[in-house]
Amino acid sequence: MAGAAPIVLLEEVVKVYRLGDVDVPALRGVSISVAAGEFVAIMGASGSGKSTLMNIIGCLDRPTSGRYALAGQEVAGLSKGRLAELRNRTLGFVFQNFNLLPRTDALDNVELPLVYGGVHGRERRERAREALEQVGLGGRLHHHPNQLSGGQQQRVAIARALVGRPKLLLADEPTGNLDSRTSVEVIALLQSLGRSGLTVLLVTHEPDIARHAERVVVVRDGRVQSDERRVPVPAVPLEAEEAAP
Ligand code: ADP
Ligand code: MG
Repeated sequence: MAGAAPIVLLEEVVKVYRLGDVDVPALRGVSISVAAGEFVAIMGASGSGKSTLMNIIGCLDRPTSGRYALAGQEVAGLSKGRLAELRNRTLGFVFQNFNLLPRTDALDNVELPLVYGGVHGRERRERAREALEQVGLGGRLHHHPNQLSGGQQQRVAIARALVGRPKLLLADEPTGNLDSRTSVEVIALLQSLGRSGLTVLLVTHEPDIARHAERVVVVRDGRVQSDERRVPVPAVPLEAEEAAP
């Protein structure tokens, strides 16, 4: 039973935004099925609908029409509470701008989702520490974001996404603010998480990043233009930047 349902199932998803009295079609009938454990890159020009698609997959927005099931659950029929529960249990988010709290150390940033999730103090601390160790930042627990490099900040953000033990990680342009060397490190981390069973959906407009995915979906003008599987190029960081102390 478990494992049979795709983690993401979109059927003919349409999204139309209303701007004043103009309808802006952002998605025009998108069908995608992602199996557990896949590492998928979503590519496409600016304005093609990538973020709209990620917002729907992340349950931050609802389709105008069409069907969406997340981890085997139809999203359309769920109450707000049930939807929040499904999101918390299933999804982790990573953003281009990291979205870390500035005056808060790495450990507290990573703990935050567990505070909302009602996990108690000691377990929270322990899990946040484990998540930071998992991303190679065991030696930076008490650094604040401004004491960390961009790549390290993104790794803290990835730890924050992992601490809730999601099945699906959604990353919208996670390397958009990083130089190419740091980008490779972040992608190497995402690949290794993928190997340990996490499903990763990554939006990027950079072919250099997408070649590390095992499946590339190209969106154009609100439609899937192509959807191909390929052998991913392993992301090899130039050097192991740091080890946990
Ligand atoms: P991408 O992430 O690929 O750049 P988006 O999904 O952000 O594309 O946008 C797709 C289309 O939908 C664009 O034409 C954009 O202007 C429009 N759009 C996105 N969000 C909104 C919104 N909240 N209101 C109106 N139009 C929007
Ligand atoms: Mg976008």
